[in-house]
Amino acid sequence: MVVTPHYAEYENTSYSGVCVSVLDTEVGYHTQRKNGVDFVFVDNPCYPRVGGPYADQQGNAYADNQYRFMLMCLAALEAPLNLPVNGSLYGEEVTFVANDWHAALVPVYLASKYRPHGVYTNARSILAIHNLRHQGVYPPTTFGMMGIAPDWYSSVEWQYPPHLRQGAYEEEGRAINTLKGGIVTADRIVTVSPGYAQEITTAEGGWGLEGLLASRAYALNGVLNGIDTDEWNPESDDRIYKKYSARTLMEGKAANKLAIQKELGLVERADVPLIGFIGRLDFQKGADLILGAAHWLLDQDVQLVCLGTGDQSLESGMRWLESTYPQKARAWVGYNETFAHKLTAAADIWLMPSRFEPCGLNQMYAMRYGAVPVVHATGGLRDTVQDFDPWKNSGTGWTFSPCSLEAFQNSISVALSTYHSHPESFTALQLAGMARECSWDRAASQYEEIFEWAAVDAPFCG
Ligand code: ADP
Repeated sequence: MVVTPHYAEYENTSYSGVCVSVLDTEVGYHTQRKNGVDFVFVDNPCYPRVGGPYADQQGNAYADNQYRFMLMCLAALEAPLNLPVNGSLYGEEVTFVANDWHAALVPVYLASKYRPHGVYTNARSILAIHNLRHQGVYPPTTFGMMGIAPDWYSSVEWQYPPHLRQGAYEEEGRAINTLKGGIVTADRIVTVSPGYAQEITTAEGGWGLEGLLASRAYALNGVLNGIDTDEWNPESDDRIYKKYSARTLMEGKAANKLAIQKELGLVERADVPLIGFIGRLDFQKGADLILGAAHWLLDQDVQLVCLGTGDQSLESGMRWLESTYPQKARAWVGYNETFAHKLTAAADIWLMPSRFEPCGLNQMYAMRYGAVPVVHATGGLRDTVQDFDPWKNSGTGWTFSPCSLEAFQNSISVALSTYHSHPESFTALQLAGMARECSWDRAASQYEEIFEWAAVDAPFCG
């Protein structure tokens, strides 16, 4: 069962007729069964919003997000007990997987509100951390409306060290930290790559929670995300200009490159290396490093195409890039999945200078489409991109560290010189990336194993 807030854009959901009272309101459930999975959509007037689930059209988080996601957590906990799916209830013997801070109160409520009353005593909870930077931090005065027994206050309280304190002086840096609540109450914790699982236990990647995460290291695992290999398959992708396989890589790449150059008004040349980037324009993704490298990079015989949306100054930077290098660079400020497929199919080299990256998907899509990634050696990027070894002619791309402009440029230099001077090595890299195993099957069996470990141990809290 997948539980998510109800958004108007989901089609073919049916109203279950079941309503439950949580906090000060009623929530309804809509359901849908797809590919053998039950989807449950929590319905309440607080969910449908023009900007989407999390933030308004200007990118500002909704002021009532704490309430909206508390409600979702409680609705998720009530669903197995009250919502008949295909004629029966899921019941109490379930494993909850709570994704990120938005769902991190599931283990807190489980431990503080249900288990003490003999409910869900055999259920287990797993907190899945996709991005530790976002923790759901709110003023301590909001505790009263959370529906958590007062003696559980310390489970969600977080006190920032003096140099990180904001807010009123009297608060002494105290806050409700939703994700922290999940970390200290979940039966197990999982992140989206083994590298990130290790990094979040250190000061470099822990965003202040490293000590707590290290203390739970025995229950913390990293499982590398898979990708949708049907949607991202150059052999059957209807969104790209020309389909291709490893066998037809050369012709396929050239055809896709010439077609995107034509569409974007760039010089149509199959021999020029086309460099791609897609991502949220955010500090995390390092788009500012691309802008910083722009003069150096575009002084060379290359073409650079970027697609992204987000931070307004980085969006302006992208517009600057295109207007400064109209012959060589294009920057599409916006969200466009079709163009993302086209660009991935056309690119030779792929940039991901993320400062931190829990897993990252674009480097995996790029490799599957024969675009060789240049990535910062962090988190899931380090786990998925194997460095090129010219002596063995092995690897799937280039990693660089530290995340500095100099190291980034050095890595791009090596990629470009391999493209120009060692085309057979470059092709070997492309083919190795295309052959890389990246389906969800491996990840799914690792998740199943973690569920089994959770069931074997006694509940961590309660
Ligand atoms: P994150 O979840 O941190 O944003 P990921 O690499 O894990 O980064 O996943 C981002 C996903 O969103 C990828 O599938 C990527 O292709 C897609 N994406 C990001 N920005 C855009 C955009 N502007 N247009 C189309 N797809 C995008």
